[in-house]
Amino acid sequence: MAVDKPFRPSEVFSVEDGTDQNVPRVFISPARYIQGPDVLKHIGRYLKILPSSEPLILISSSGENRFGSFIRDSLRKNGLNGLFLNFNGECSMDEIERILSMAKQNDSHNLDCVVAVGGGKCVDTGKSVAYRMGLPSVIIPSLASNDAPCSALSVIYSSEGVSQGAEYFPDSPAIVVVDSKIVAEAPVRYLVSGMGDAMATWYEAKTCFNNLTGRTTVGARPTLAAGAIGELCATTLYEYGMAGVSAVEQGIVNDALERIVESNTLLSGLGFESGGLAGAHSVAQAFTVIPKVQETYLHGEMVAFGLLTQLVFEDDGAEAEKAAEFFAKVGLPVNLKQLSVERSDKNSLERIMTAALNASTMRNEPMELKRSDLIDAALVVDKIGTQILDNYSDMGYSKLH
Ligand SMILES: [Zn+2]
Repeated sequence: MAVDKPFRPSEVFSVEDGTDQNVPRVFISPARYIQGPDVLKHIGRYLKILPSSEPLILISSSGENRFGSFIRDSLRKNGLNGLFLNFNGECSMDEIERILSMAKQNDSHNLDCVVAVGGGKCVDTGKSVAYRMGLPSVIIPSLASNDAPCSALSVIYSSEGVSQGAEYFPDSPAIVVVDSKIVAEAPVRYLVSGMGDAMATWYEAKTCFNNLTGRTTVGARPTLAAGAIGELCATTLYEYGMAGVSAVEQGIVNDALERIVESNTLLSGLGFESGGLAGAHSVAQAFTVIPKVQETYLHGEMVAFGLLTQLVFEDDGAEAEKAAEFFAKVGLPVNLKQLSVERSDKNSLERIMTAALNASTMRNEPMELKRSDLIDAALVVDKIGTQILDNYSDMGYSKLH
């Protein structure tokens, strides 16, 4: 059954007794997660789990050129009749409406699920379309640059690409299929950016859990499970991050790469959705108020700097240094210059930190923060990061930029 009303999870999970004591812990996850080399070649088999016989396949035209034939072959072998529609590049209401009306025009198909194949925006558009059609979504990310694939939410943009906030869904994706060979073929900067996003998961979940007024993105209390998943995500990145980078540089799929892909996609996705976000994502989103930063950098690159800022204002200098050393090695930004902001540019820093202070996820931080505290923290990060680059080298970053 098709739906047109927005779903508001915080109204579902909140309590009406006027206290803040009885907010439940909520854990959210996709029903199936499948990862490995060449799994895309078996997509028809996986869709039969639902069971689906007429999937809508949402894919960009470049994606269709790259792996459309694998998908068509597998659908044919398994007796599925897919309708292919091209995604136009922006996760906007206009694009969602366009796809819905094209799906309607093809009434010879009796569509029974929406399969989105591509980057974060295609994946998010697929989830929004599936929700409106009342169908299950199946997500096939072509990059490991973000943790969008597993979550029950989409980030909606204007047609000009300005973020308009998140849309939530009652159902998580029914199946997430990650072909590690496809992910390994993408430029290494995407994998590295995903590591920045994933590394913040544990630190933000910890903050949200330890603060009794902390809430996850669905307005619930975090679960221990999400915290444990976030911690495994961070330790895996510290241990295998560099090996994952060299695997992609050599174009091979090995155990280290599989571990990093799972960390960036599954562990980070489950960890953030049921563990909660905090300062790192508040600062990261705030960097997008500077158009040059927004156009030049990937989400996880801004999250990396956001995490360092969070660790500094939480007074955890040792962990900030540990994370900064890791980021410098893999090529994530560790000082302001590496995000195209000058240390002396007071005006930009004030704009960024005003936005960070107003971000809803900043409320999960336990301390009272002023804008000047955030600016001071960013300047300390800048010093720590610059020192680390002087001691080691900026090779990691300069290889990617
Ligand atoms: Zn993120």
